[in-house]
Amino acid sequence: MTKSDLNLKNDSSNTPCHSRKIPLWLVLLDNIPTIFLFILGFLIINIISTVAAILFAIYTVVSVVWFWARICPYCHHFETYACPCGYGIISSKLFSRKDSSLFKKVFKRNILIVFPNWFIPFFVGIYLLITQYSVKVLVLMIIFSIIGFLIIPLISKFVGCKNCEIKEDCPWMTLNKQHSC
Ligand code: SF4
Repeated sequence: MTKSDLNLKNDSSNTPCHSRKIPLWLVLLDNIPTIFLFILGFLIINIISTVAAILFAIYTVVSVVWFWARICPYCHHFETYACPCGYGIISSKLFSRKDSSLFKKVFKRNILIVFPNWFIPFFVGIYLLITQYSVKVLVLMIIFSIIGFLIIPLISKFVGCKNCEIKEDCPWMTLNKQHSC
């Protein structure tokens, strides 16, 4: 038994949700809107610059890999099928488990890496609506905003994270609670 197995066992005894296996439909529900969001972001930025759009696409991939490397290894769901989006399993194939007691601290320090995936296309879209309005930009922006600022947060709140038994320890859920209450 490896050190990581022992850690997993110890963590599992504290967090019974580890025995849960998130169904595939829920993993897809968590990931498909995000992939759509990245594609829409690419299309919006591509209106002003293809090079910038390609850089954005590279950034989205880097930010996700960063998330796998710097956040997931500290999570109680690392290396388990209890992770709602499947990152916990993918991350464990690439990186080794870290001290889960540092999860909150690490999460807060690294979560900003994903914010540009939402806000760069959004602000580029606002700029385009002001400077070179077109129906195409408007439609892209409406779909982008609905997916990014409505559908993805709602899926997290009411499906993906809803039944997570460690959500009280999750800074993301605590953050949402602070803003929604
Ligand atoms: S629950 Fe979040 S932090 Fe934990 S393994 Fe899954 S994606 Fe990573």
